[in-house]
Order: sequence, then C-alpha cells, then structure tokens
Amino acid sequence: MTKRIIPNNKQCTVCEKIKPMLDFHINTADHSGRASACAECTNSKRRTVSGLVKTIYSSQKSLSKSRGHNPPEYSESELLDWIVTEDSFRTLYLAWVGSGYKTRLKPSIDRIKDDYGYVFGNIQLVTWEDNDRKGHKSNCGRKTKRVMQLYKNGDIIKIHSSADDAGIAVNAVATSIRRACKGLQYTCRGYSWKYI
Ligand SMILES: [Zn+2]
Repeated sequence: MTKRIIPNNKQCTVCEKIKPMLDFHINTADHSGRASACAECTNSKRRTVSGLVKTIYSSQKSLSKSRGHNPPEYSESELLDWIVTEDSFRTLYLAWVGSGYKTRLKPSIDRIKDDYGYVFGNIQLVTWEDNDRKGHKSNCGRKTKRVMQLYKNGDIIKIHSSADDAGIAVNAVATSIRRACKGLQYTCRGYSWKYI
C-alpha cells in the first residue's frame, strides 16, 4: 500500500502565493481537503458587499428549507439591489468594516414576522448580534438541548448548556452548531458537535 503524501504547502488560486496548508479553510469536497483559495483571499471576498450578500442569500435559502418555508422570493442580485438602497446599510456596513469585521456587527437580515419567509416587505437590516438575540428570545419557550463539543478524533472538550452558549464560546453562529449537531455539516470552528 502506498502512503498518501500530504503536502505541507499549497498555492492559492487567487493571490497565487504558496502558503502553509493551515492557511486554507477545510473543504472536504476538494481532493487536498482544503479550499482552493487561501483563507485571507476567501475572507476578503466575503467581506465585500457582494460577498456579504452572497453569504446572506445562501444562508436564507438553506434556512427557508429547514423551516419549511418557500425559498426567498428574490434573486441574489435583487437582494443586492435592495440592500444597497437601504438607508441603514451604509452605516451598518462601515461599522462592521471599522470593527475589523467583528461577527456581532456583521450586517444581517431579519424577518419582521417569523411566520413569513424571505419576501420584500418582511425583511429588515439588523446587525448579526441583534438577529441572534431575537432568535434566542423566540426560542425561550422551547426546551434547549445541551451540546457536546468534541475534537475531530472524538475526544470530549466540553458540554455547553445550549447551542447558543456554545456559539458564544467558540465565536460561531448558533445555527451552524445546530447544523453540525444534526450532521448537516461535519464540523463547526474545527470541532465536532453532538446533542446530548
Ligand atoms: Zn490567497
């Protein structure tokens, strides 16, 4: 049996710099196990207005699906047109940039009425922190499940009282932790997660 050689470095397809493997986000779809663009290039792209809208739009599509709602009624480019004409967008976006891209200040889109999906008239711009807090509030009546944080080899690190608390501890979105607990994604912040 031949031993698979894992290279220590990789060339970024965007900036073309050769960087250590650890400078690339994990991407199990790629044969190298890492993304083709380095983390720095990926992050700077996600931080542009169009990159931000792309991230928001793809999360709206998957959230609508998991909530059993219709997909967003608008396209990604219509959402971009909407966002840039919102009065508060410039202020929110510049505050996020000025903070050095703190997750809690990231512009986010909130549904005004929870029973309705992503349609114009039912969406408003807020910061990620406001949106997360609101989600937390509406979940208050529900019994929260404890979550277990593990290394990828299965060793237990810690038990958190809820996905929200775990999210705060590792600086991740609680939704992403819930997805990892449900097996919809392998890891979140490089850890494995389980409901207990
Ligand atoms: Zn790069």
